[in-house]
Amino acid sequence: MTAQNEKITLMHGAGGTIMHDLVKNYIVKSFGGIGNAEVPLKAMDDAAVIGDIVLKSDSHAVKPIFFPGGDIGRIAISGTVNDISCLGAQPIALACGLILEEGLLLSDLKRVLDSMQEACLEAGVGIITGDTKVIEKGTLGGLVMNVSGIGKRTPALDRNLEVVRQIRPLKASWTLDSNLEKGDKIILTGTIGDHGLAVLSAQQGLKFGSDIKSDVKPLNHLVQTLIGEVGGVVVIKDPTRGGLADALNEWTEKSQTGIILEEDKIPIRPDVQTACEMLGLDPLEIGNEGKLIFGVIPQKAQQVLEFLQQTPQGKDAQIIGEATSQFRGVAMQTTIGGKRIVARPVGDPIPRIC
Ligand code: MG
Repeated sequence: MTAQNEKITLMHGAGGTIMHDLVKNYIVKSFGGIGNAEVPLKAMDDAAVIGDIVLKSDSHAVKPIFFPGGDIGRIAISGTVNDISCLGAQPIALACGLILEEGLLLSDLKRVLDSMQEACLEAGVGIITGDTKVIEKGTLGGLVMNVSGIGKRTPALDRNLEVVRQIRPLKASWTLDSNLEKGDKIILTGTIGDHGLAVLSAQQGLKFGSDIKSDVKPLNHLVQTLIGEVGGVVVIKDPTRGGLADALNEWTEKSQTGIILEEDKIPIRPDVQTACEMLGLDPLEIGNEGKLIFGVIPQKAQQVLEFLQQTPQGKDAQIIGEATSQFRGVAMQTTIGGKRIVARPVGDPIPRIC
């Protein structure tokens, strides 16, 4: 097939290498050279930085729009809030573009808006502008939306960077993907795979013999209190589409380092593990919406862990590995004693999870 006949597939929106290639070869190629930003488009980080302002745009097309533990509105608010938080900034305002499908029940729209309102209140940030469009009945699945947002630099971020710089040099003034260095500990705030499997169960009408719920939530307050009160965090990311495998590989590529994980330290609910085994899915590649990974200087790792474990959002936190200079990419010490490569997935195994 020639490039001219190539078409967009669902994999182009599934995180992983196929989506990253699309963004790099088309979107960054078109706009990467225009404008002046401290953290620009071509950095392909969680959000961009211009001056002291962090800017993020995120569209949401989860199918179905309601699933165990959440809905499209809660994801849309949480996704943008969390991406801004990953730079170490505090979100201060959001914009929402709604695209509604003809035939959508107004009661369903109200339910989504109520849920967005709740997420906004949790995050302490409001929608201050937006737009609404309606399209003909088709395959949209009810509605899709875009939530963009701005965040700003906080004294907590400055204190955090100061803690790092007392131990080692750090050029970047935000918690960027490229900041990881050998010896830094990798801390995960809780169980993985819950969100992807919750959406999959709603898509397929599957019951996994338990109640697997999405973890979707805004995490800005957790980030700000952690970096302000403990510090030592060099990089933050939300392992969404493509899961932990995609997020950690992105760190190693941009930081030119390796990461070694310990499989028995990665928190996974037993029912999620069983469902993944049944369906042949790798929980490391499944998207999450309420978890964060932190790269932390080793001198602060234990303190960060203890802080997280005392919070409701981080009670299952674990140090799951560390950065190394011995190889590039991500490898994992398995529970049965071997080592395996954790490759960057081509895409999240579950389509339209956010
Ligand atoms: Mg992100």
